[in-house]
Amino acid sequence: MRAWRLLCFRAEAARVDEGETMSAVLVLNTDNTALHTVTLQHAIGMLVREVAIVEQAREGLNLGPYPYPLVLRLVRYVKTAFLYTRAPGWTKRGVLRRDRHTCAYCGGQAGTVDHLVPQSRGGRNSWLNTVAACSPCNTRKANRTPEEAGMPLLFTPYPPSRAQLARLDQRGESR
Ligand SMILES: [Zn+2]
Repeated sequence: MRAWRLLCFRAEAARVDEGETMSAVLVLNTDNTALHTVTLQHAIGMLVREVAIVEQAREGLNLGPYPYPLVLRLVRYVKTAFLYTRAPGWTKRGVLRRDRHTCAYCGGQAGTVDHLVPQSRGGRNSWLNTVAACSPCNTRKANRTPEEAGMPLLFTPYPPSRAQLARLDQRGESR
């Protein structure tokens, strides 16, 4: 019954969505801090699952039994600490930022990312398998591990937190 209702309202929300440009619904934590935005369809799903209530609605517009939501408020508090403890997703740009654009092999200005275990040998795109490197070092190391190439690391790669990356961002990326 519940799943059927959910499908119904989702379909209805999708139809309304098509004609809307501003379909993002703001989600507030129980303490009224803004968490993120979700699509209208997602918002309806949250209402049906009763994890959120409508804080602010568009007047004169309803979706089934619900007012058309502009702002939702969560019913239960969501801890946001994970934003600051869990490592963010790996990106080349993130590696360069983490290592402050410093080559892990010679300490010079780095513009490339080197895989400790080369990708051609199954090395992954991960925080622990990648370091910032300058092009000459990257080329010299080629298809070898640092040990094989006799190129010791000047620093050890680590998974940064979002907060660490954000702080590095504030300091600027130039060096
Ligand atoms: Zn270098």
